Amino acid sequence: MAKIIDGKKIAGEIRAELAERVAELKEKHNIVPKLSVILVGDDPASAVYVRNKEKACAEVGILTDTHKFSSNIEEKEVLTLVESLNRQKDVYGILVQLPLPKEIDPKKILEAISPEKDVDGLHVVNMGKLLRGEGALFLPCTPSGVIHLLLSTGVKLLGKEAVVVGRSNIVGKPLALMLLEHHMTVTLCHSRTADLASVCRRADVLVAAVGKPCLIKGDWVKEGAVVIDVGVNRIDGKLVGDVDFESAKERASFITPVPGGVGPMTIAMLMKNTVLAAKRAVS
Ligand code: NDP
Repeated sequence: MAKIIDGKKIAGEIRAELAERVAELKEKHNIVPKLSVILVGDDPASAVYVRNKEKACAEVGILTDTHKFSSNIEEKEVLTLVESLNRQKDVYGILVQLPLPKEIDPKKILEAISPEKDVDGLHVVNMGKLLRGEGALFLPCTPSGVIHLLLSTGVKLLGKEAVVVGRSNIVGKPLALMLLEHHMTVTLCHSRTADLASVCRRADVLVAAVGKPCLIKGDWVKEGAVVIDVGVNRIDGKLVGDVDFESAKERASFITPVPGGVGPMTIAMLMKNTVLAAKRAVS
């Protein structure tokens, strides 16, 4: 029976540590880290995510300043705001809540953010540095959270097989690169992968980031594997992951729950990046 990886608890510990760093920045340098958030449109899930980020930031003493726009705003107005935030000295991090309305090109907006303020780690420069193993200024938040959770288990990663299901730019692809940095042998799967079940059965570390409820069955999990479920799916008002938790926990050595696994870590990593940006600015 698997041990549950308590993402909520681990994220809480990270937040407590960050609160100390924030207090130190204020005391020694009279600096309060500030995160500017851009929210376009009225997607209810995005509004909830932004509120959760604001709340978590307030808890550790990070200031937030959310710029809300209706979905019919023109792309150039968002670009103008990003450019102005790039110049503001008291703004250390800029986050654009995705998805953006169809009329706005997310690539254009993300690339307008200064890489030094790209606390989401999605800028092409930071992604490129990650790809080349040259030390990105910021690592993307969800994959970083997954790595933290993996390291918290104490399981050795070096030389082991990792299988990541899902190849998005925000989760699967950067996570595969980060697992490579930990010297794992990485397989990245997607919707066209043939015989996904067999590929998953090879994994010492199995990560699901798909968005399909309970896609990964218990008998796809190798005995003793570490299973990380990034998926968040709402079914009859209840949140479920991409992994069939009940059957997978019988075979895994460690497993994350949904909710309470990766989700809280994503927000903790965003705050960590914002504090890092402020620390860099003083050093
Ligand atoms: P995307 O929709 O961008 O990507 C989904 C990926 O899953 C794609 O690569 C797709 O393949 C692949 N896929 C789809 N169906 C299958 C299938 N049947 N078999 C194998 N692969 C499949 O999603 P995201 O990466 O943005 O998010 C994934 C999940 O993680 C979602 O549930 C999302 O809500 C959650 N999430 C959770 C976060 C958290 O903090 N907990 C943060 C971010 C996301 P292809 O490329 O071929 O289309």
